[in-house]
Order: sequence, then structure tokens, then C-alpha cells
Amino acid sequence: MSGLLDELYRLQERLRFVQSREKQRDTVPAELTEVDGAFREKLDTVGKLKQRLIEAELEHRRASAELADFQEKQKKYQTQLRNVQSSREYSAVLNEMDGVEKQIRTTEDKVLTLEEELETSRADLKKREDALPKETEEHEEKMKDWRAVQRGINEELETARREIADLEKTIRPRELAEFQRLLEKKGGLAVARVINASCSACHVKVRPAAMQSLKAGTEIIYCDSCRRILYYDHQNP
Ligand SMILES: [Zn+2]
Repeated sequence: MSGLLDELYRLQERLRFVQSREKQRDTVPAELTEVDGAFREKLDTVGKLKQRLIEAELEHRRASAELADFQEKQKKYQTQLRNVQSSREYSAVLNEMDGVEKQIRTTEDKVLTLEEELETSRADLKKREDALPKETEEHEEKMKDWRAVQRGINEELETARREIADLEKTIRPRELAEFQRLLEKKGGLAVARVINASCSACHVKVRPAAMQSLKAGTEIIYCDSCRRILYYDHQNP
């Protein structure tokens, strides 16, 4: 039993280690947040520009197709106008012509505005993309020391994950599942050390009889108060 508890305690410790190290690795240090933020903004702007270009190209294609349709209609009315039989029919077609001409003017404006936007945005994007390799290089140079720290953390994480996998293979599936369930319920702390005959998680005294069982290591003892598995470390009581 004490073997199992040692393993569970070690597993929990390794899992907590991974969690805190991952957080550390993914948190840019305070002195670099501004530098990193500025660079991320540059990447973000390029991404947004690309996205907007795709949309504007689509809008431009649609507007151009619309314009072609209106021009087609205009031609149709022009033909009709040459073949009208009465003055009533004439003014009706003229009215339609008027409407379609207005639509043509509006759509032409739209097409032109989009063309201007596309031209400006393409130039802007090219300028930004051309500058990016050098900016990336400069940014990585500023982040160099931090990248080394991150690599170091990744190596530690790899070792810890291997140990976790080994421990998980050692522990029986049923006991592992029970531990994982408890871990989830108790915010990552399923096994609590007993220090000065108290549960170190909730600080409630452990009953003398439970203390005796713990020391004997014959069964799993749960804290009366927080229901965590109690762990009595024989090496560091
Ligand atoms: Zn407790």
C-alpha cells in the first residue's frame, strides 16, 4: 500500500510540475511583453489585411457581375426603345432605362471604390510582407534568451511526461482511474501529505487511529474533512 501511495504522490507531483511549467513556458516575461505584443500586432495586421483582400476581391467580382447585368438590361431597353409602338410604351421603357442607368452609376462607383481599395491594400500588404522576414529575425534576436529558457522547460517537460507515462503503467488501472477522478474533483490535489498529524490540504487533524493505519501503510485513508487521500511520508514525517 505504501508503495502505491508513493507512486500516486509522485504522479501527482509530476502532473503539477508539468502544469506549472507549461504555464511558465507559455507566459512571456514582463520585460518582453511589450516587444512581443508589438510583433504580434504586426503579424495580426498582415493576417487581417489578407482576409480583407479576399473579401474585397469577392465584393469586386460580385459588383462587376452586377454591373454587367445592368449594362445588358440597358442594351435590351435601348433595343425596345427603337421598336416602341406608342408614346405610352415609349415613356414606360424610358422610365425603366432611367432606373437601370441609376443602378449602373451606383454600381460603377462601387466597383471603382473597391478597385482603389484593392490597389492600396495590395501595396500595403506587399510592403508589410517584405518587411516581415527582417522584423521576425530582429524579434527573435530580442527573444533569444527567453527562447533558450523555453527550450530548457520543454526538455524538463519531456522528462516529466516520460515519468508520468511510466508511473501510469505501474499503477493498476482501477486505482489510477480512481486517483484521476479525485484529482479532477479536488483541483489537481488528490493526495495530501500529513504534516504534524494534520492534513496539509485542509489542516484538519487526523484521528489517532487513522494515523496508526497510515503509519502501518495497510490501507488507503481519506481525510475526514476534505476526502483527499492522505499520504504519510516515512522518509520525511
Ligand atoms: Zn483534508
